[in-house]
Amino acid sequence: MSENNSQGSIVFTKEFTKQESIPEEGIQRALAVLRSGRLHRYNTAEGEISETALLEKEFAAFVGSKYCLACSSCGGSIYLALRSIGVETGDKILTNAYSLAPVPGAIVNAGAEPVLVEITKDYTIDFEDLEKKAKAGSAKFLLLSHMRGHMPDMDAVCDICRRYGISMIEDCAHTMGARWNGRPSGSFGNVACYSTQTYKHMNSGEGGLLTTDEDSIIAKAILYSGSYMLYDRHISRPPNEVFEPYKMIVPNFSMRMDNLRAAILRPQLRDLNRQCDRWNRRYKELENLLKKIDHIYIPERPAQEYFVGSSIQFSLAGVTRDQIMVFLAECKHRGVEIKWFGGSEPNGFTSNFRHWQYIKELPELPVTRRVLDFMCDFRIPLTFSIEDCRIIAEVIRQVAAETLIQ
Ligand SMILES: *Cc1c(COP(=O)(O)O)cnc(C)c1O
Repeated sequence: MSENNSQGSIVFTKEFTKQESIPEEGIQRALAVLRSGRLHRYNTAEGEISETALLEKEFAAFVGSKYCLACSSCGGSIYLALRSIGVETGDKILTNAYSLAPVPGAIVNAGAEPVLVEITKDYTIDFEDLEKKAKAGSAKFLLLSHMRGHMPDMDAVCDICRRYGISMIEDCAHTMGARWNGRPSGSFGNVACYSTQTYKHMNSGEGGLLTTDEDSIIAKAILYSGSYMLYDRHISRPPNEVFEPYKMIVPNFSMRMDNLRAAILRPQLRDLNRQCDRWNRRYKELENLLKKIDHIYIPERPAQEYFVGSSIQFSLAGVTRDQIMVFLAECKHRGVEIKWFGGSEPNGFTSNFRHWQYIKELPELPVTRRVLDFMCDFRIPLTFSIEDCRIIAEVIRQVAAETLIQ
């Protein structure tokens, strides 16, 4: 959708924050939960399996993992994952510096210390820096954040982890539905966390899903999430005896999902692969048009990476900060609101490691810093048509031609 402004330039008129509505089946299921009054996941009738328990079983099957736990948010599930995998106060956790604020937040919440690792010009973790820090330090954990859906070479990451005895937690907030070499994102680490927050690939407002194949991790995660000793109502879990050694020593952090959200999510899960394809058709259209524009660099994605193009990132090359600010302001003026990771203040859902000043001895990370200083980003909601993507690319092309000249 577009119109022309008084100068005759095209203006895009749709909202970048407008998601599709919840599928009708989700609405009907939600109404049934509301009518039953049984919103709490453990408030089941005799013999009934709750919506939340069913969602867990279905999601585990979707990603091919043994177990799943539904949580109140992805940030919460990362915290539960860290605790359940054995992170203790003062532990160091390696993590790529390009990530979202809830990721270092979960590390700090667990009493641990983030050790930030550089990224490459293509936005994924830098293996040389990872290996250097794995060798030098005492870190036994890697929290790998697939920020904005960018996956590194997962075989190489697994190899480094194996060689240094490092356990991996995958943050798959933006890779739900994605795969590396045909294998689902989240199936490489010891435990993985997904988000069902409104702007991710399934929408329940807030919510998180934790998956693992390991009996002890899921048992502890279920207890930490606040099972009130009703863990036998889960159907995605190991036998009761696995819980025995932990049940008195694992505190209850109350981070459960409820049946209303699970009811909304189950029909969305069945439709997820189709939705991912719809995102990718929009992404491809934008990518093909944007990469022809001078000063715009879009990383090549490796053939092994099946990503979900629910947002697009690009770097502005050979321009000054002042030019970037003019470019962004003019795009916004024409209805295309682009986010920038290089701003001096944190803004909206962007995140820059320089703003996480609670981290002790915040490192310099010159490469990541330079990459973020020129990185732009916007969402591709499914309420945008392919034609909308063409209009957005045309606005960006025109504005770039006007503002990014040397
Ligand atoms: C959104 C997001 C999270 C956190 O998800 P919430 O459900 O909002 O807690 C974590 N990591 C990344 C990369 C994200 O984009």
